[in-house]
Amino acid sequence: MSTVIYHDAKVIEITDLSANTKNFVIQVDKNVPFSFKAGQFIMLDLPIDSHIRNRSYSIASAPATDNTFELCIVLKPGGLGTTYLFNEITVGSDLKVSDPLGKLTLSEPIDMEICYVCTGTGIAPFRSHLFDLVNRKIEHQKINLIFGNRKIEDILYYDEFIALEKADPNFKFIPVLSRELPEKWNGVTGYVHPVYEELYSDKRQARFFICGWHNMLKEARQRIEAMGYNRKLIRFESYD
Ligand SMILES: Cc1cc2nc3c(=O)[nH]c(=O)nc-3n(C[C@H](O)[C@H](O)[C@H](O)COP(=O)(O)OP(=O)(O)OC[C@H]3O[C@@H](n4cnc5c(N)ncnc54)[C@H](O)[C@@H]3O)c2cc1C
Repeated sequence: MSTVIYHDAKVIEITDLSANTKNFVIQVDKNVPFSFKAGQFIMLDLPIDSHIRNRSYSIASAPATDNTFELCIVLKPGGLGTTYLFNEITVGSDLKVSDPLGKLTLSEPIDMEICYVCTGTGIAPFRSHLFDLVNRKIEHQKINLIFGNRKIEDILYYDEFIALEKADPNFKFIPVLSRELPEKWNGVTGYVHPVYEELYSDKRQARFFICGWHNMLKEARQRIEAMGYNRKLIRFESYD
């Protein structure tokens, strides 16, 4: 395996996205050529007391020209990397960042309808895709974003996706909540799986992108294949 090279970077902004999730804006040293494709991830080399010090995070922002990118990271209780990031990292902190990795990218031209399926911070690569399409004014067919969470306050970047839906008639945002009270939420409830099953019950051509933790991802891949979609139309990134 080739050795990963890490670049010097600084944290330039940190925002709370929810009670346990933060958005980190990071800038790689300007002398380093650093560019990524929407949907890729980076690794952070963290000074933690672990046999394996690197942790992978999907880039949550669209490609930029100033060496900056965003990560959205959920705190894992007892997790070494996230505890370090949440407790020790502040604006101005130094981080070691790898070159971009991964292939959860969009092929152009976009020749098919797209369905994104994700939960929690699995939204990150798809936020990157969507705002890359907006920034570069890329033509696309219908895009459905099915985003599963437990409660209203867990929906990351809610306002951004609502605004995007208003601006782009070809984009549909479908937040799905599994544990919200009916008096607080009149949107879609339950888990993400029945939502794409119903939406694509006519088996029309579509490309599926799935991102998040293993169980949701495994189930989604199985169910989409069982609907009759070729596995080549299903792209995914597992967080564990
Ligand atoms: C491609 C990819 C993208 C990801 N993107 C995101 C994202 O955008 N947002 C997000 O919140 N999370 C993301 N994750 C998950 C993230 O990488 C971490 O697993 C998560 O933040 C928990 O890290 P932790 O150090 O707090 O927990 P820990 O439990 O300390 O470590 C988590 C993981 O690190 C590895 N690890 C730790 N110690 C060892 C060891 N001794 N030997 C072998 N492996 C070890 C294991 O894979 C373990 O599951 C992504 C993961 C992958 C693979």
